[in-house]
Amino acid sequence: MTVAIYPGSFDPMTHGHLSIIRSGLVVFDKLIVAVLRNPRKEALFTVEERVEMIREELAGAGDVEVDSFDGLLVEYCRRKNVRVVLRGLRAVADFEYELQMANMNRHLNTEVETVFLMANDAYFYVSSNLVKEAARLGGDVHRLVPPGVARRMTERLGPPRTGA
Ligand code: ADP
Repeated sequence: MTVAIYPGSFDPMTHGHLSIIRSGLVVFDKLIVAVLRNPRKEALFTVEERVEMIREELAGAGDVEVDSFDGLLVEYCRRKNVRVVLRGLRAVADFEYELQMANMNRHLNTEVETVFLMANDAYFYVSSNLVKEAARLGGDVHRLVPPGVARRMTERLGPPRTGA
């Protein structure tokens, strides 16, 4: 059975993340979606809220576990006894950063391999940061995130002031 860990901030989860999870389940038997606890990044949602939103969205989606972790990803992989990390690739801008991360992780633990799946073209430009930025300014982002996420964003940031 091949298991992969899909790590990230997921603040919040978007349809882009969901499409990577769907594709990941075609390639792997099981996925562990792992929300990184990163005290250095200011977040809109707590890790617990993010885990809950992802769980809600993935209920019945196949063999997916949702978890959180802190510290080094490769250490988390060791603890979970998983050797594959799944990441999504969007624009060229992702490439440089992802390449560095993958190489650093390989340096830290030669047993862990990173596998990349290409973003669905419908969500190629969708990032959690841009979604938050637009919503903070009153933009309607409900088509870019799952309904549960859209609802919580409205609760936190107020309703959109533009039609979409
Ligand atoms: P991080 O803070 O680790 O970059 P993110 O939550 O932003 O965490 O992203 C987690 C992973 O999902 C990354 O590999 C990122 O490239 C990927 N990802 C984010 N948005 C999309 C998208 N729209 N399409 C495909 N992959 C995406």
